Amino acid sequence: MKIDLIPTICPYCGCGCGLNLVNVDGEIKGVEPWKRNPVNEGKLCPKGNFSYEFINHKERLKTPLIKENGQFREASWDEALNAIFRELKKIIDEDPDLVAFLSSARCTNEDNYVLQKFARAVIGTNNIDNCAALCHGPTVSGLNLTFGSGAMTNSIKDMEKADCIFIIGSNPLEQHPLIGRRILKAKAKGSKIIVADPRYTPTAKHADLFLPLTPGTDVALLNSMMQVILKEGLEDQDFIRTRTRDFEKLKKVIENYSPDSVEHITGISAAKIENAALIYGEAEKSSIVYCLGITEHIMGMDNVMSLANLTMLTGNIGREGTGLNPLRGQNNVQGVCDMGALPFLYPGYKKYVLDNVRADTEYEWNCGPLNFLPGLQMVEILEAAYDGRMKAMYIMGENPVFSEPETMKVKESLLNLETLIVQDIFLTETAELADFVLPATSWAEKNGTFTNTERRVQLVRKAADPPGQAMEDWRIFCQLAQVMNSSEMFPYRSEEDIFEEIRSITPQYKGITYQRLKADGMYWPCPDEDHPGTPILHGEKFATPHGLGVFKPIELRSLPETPDDDYPLILSTGRIIFHYHNSNMTGKSKILGNEISKSFVEINPKDALKLGVSNQEMVKIITRHGEIETKVKITSKITHGIIFLPIHFLDGKPNLLTNSKVLDPSTKMPELKALAAKIEKI
Ligand code: SF4
Repeated sequence: MKIDLIPTICPYCGCGCGLNLVNVDGEIKGVEPWKRNPVNEGKLCPKGNFSYEFINHKERLKTPLIKENGQFREASWDEALNAIFRELKKIIDEDPDLVAFLSSARCTNEDNYVLQKFARAVIGTNNIDNCAALCHGPTVSGLNLTFGSGAMTNSIKDMEKADCIFIIGSNPLEQHPLIGRRILKAKAKGSKIIVADPRYTPTAKHADLFLPLTPGTDVALLNSMMQVILKEGLEDQDFIRTRTRDFEKLKKVIENYSPDSVEHITGISAAKIENAALIYGEAEKSSIVYCLGITEHIMGMDNVMSLANLTMLTGNIGREGTGLNPLRGQNNVQGVCDMGALPFLYPGYKKYVLDNVRADTEYEWNCGPLNFLPGLQMVEILEAAYDGRMKAMYIMGENPVFSEPETMKVKESLLNLETLIVQDIFLTETAELADFVLPATSWAEKNGTFTNTERRVQLVRKAADPPGQAMEDWRIFCQLAQVMNSSEMFPYRSEEDIFEEIRSITPQYKGITYQRLKADGMYWPCPDEDHPGTPILHGEKFATPHGLGVFKPIELRSLPETPDDDYPLILSTGRIIFHYHNSNMTGKSKILGNEISKSFVEINPKDALKLGVSNQEMVKIITRHGEIETKVKITSKITHGIIFLPIHFLDGKPNLLTNSKVLDPSTKMPELKALAAKIEKI
């Protein structure tokens, strides 16, 4: 028996924990700790521990599929790629912007870089987006406007140095457990923990101060905390004077948010708001951690900018133990954005509207003139497909039928396309609708890099051969480019060749090489090969053009839907520790399934009594947009008037209840965390 341990990176959340895959006689049989990995020091959460289980699952895609008369039939790669070429050619001859791409935060940087290059240089469109549009899009936009860079400012390990950690709209002990571990380590060293959340989560249990926040009222809470900080003279005047601008504009707005006046809006007593402000403002080093509870609102960008205001007001940025730390959801969502799989930006967040940026890229890629028309974001792509303004979509490693709001409309949109191509490892609900399905390799069968939530780039190492004819995502695009007579632009023999090109055109990655990544990975920005990487951003100056942080005066906006007599509850959604995203991968794990495999809704005992429903009873959840049936879980851990539904389960799809009609005008984020809802007995 031959046993090999292959060090690689967990395929699930943005922590980016290192683990060893155990290869026994050519097959992956388990996971072993990678003790020296600096992110997780050998510890893993349940998802990481059982991440090997889906790799050899019998439902893995093994051969290309072509749909004929409504049925899939197997095809060779040659036949499938030539047929895709013919379909795409007809459409791009009419207009390249009739084609759109969805990239994947589950795929490597190399896969995503090649996808966006294929879309731009071969097809000729900027219609490229990824799941960040529906999670941290407001982070990217909001932090760009305030700090000039939309990424986590400090490292995971650095949190241990904080004297105060303010966690808002995030439940790291379940969603990012190995970051949760760092927070517990900080607490053990004396850090004060504040948690603002509508649920008394496993993270909230460890809080020194818990703020039971009504969903959608974050700006009121934050403005009020800032008012207290100013009243008590806890602002950092030197930092405000030398490192920021537009402070007076902020000051004027927060005058109207006294703790007494926002008590009834936020659901948090004035005394608690004052206490939170004093703990955060008096600490020498305060850090903020947030996640989708902040961003997945139509006012998500406001929330992000408000948090940026709080950090700058107190000078809690650019130093150890401080910072503003958005926890990215998927393992490579930071990387997919860095690689330019975005409708408005090239790799390295370069603005392609600038002529010189396009000209440099045309030279680097050795291609013809690149399209300067702005691309569409994901919700706009689906809207265009629904209206017949989009004719083809190419989806890599994503399942929008499950993950995008308004499931039924998403299905109709995809069915309305002339051509749908899906590249994945399983026949997902989206792949079932496709005209062409291409079998890709899983994380365990590929080399490359992932960039975790703290901007640490790490090597992913191939631990086994893929099943059947499955192929790496980047290689599929290279082969399709060859069929489309564009192979000279894709001369890669390995993932390292692609990475060399990435670093040549992505300033943040310039000094990073595969050789340098072999030890512990590296933080971007890393401008040259002698640079050690940058674990803390904004130390001397911000990344804005003038180097100053910009205060943004933010007023509280109301939610598109508030509870009323017809829909008296607020529905919030989120993740649980045992599953990940649409459970396409964790759902194939027996062990995780044994823990929990069915949908449920959390409801406060007072609401349960009023509705006359009991624990485990099946009920209907109804919103203005749809309904589902699920099981009741009565718990006092959720605030009265709010209900919580996990996002993972096929038998209780939250996106049957959501709405994509009302969007934030700049980020196109729909309201996903606070919908008016009612519960009915069945
Ligand atoms: Fe994987 Fe995240 Fe768990 Fe780490 S914390 S093992 S990255 S799911």
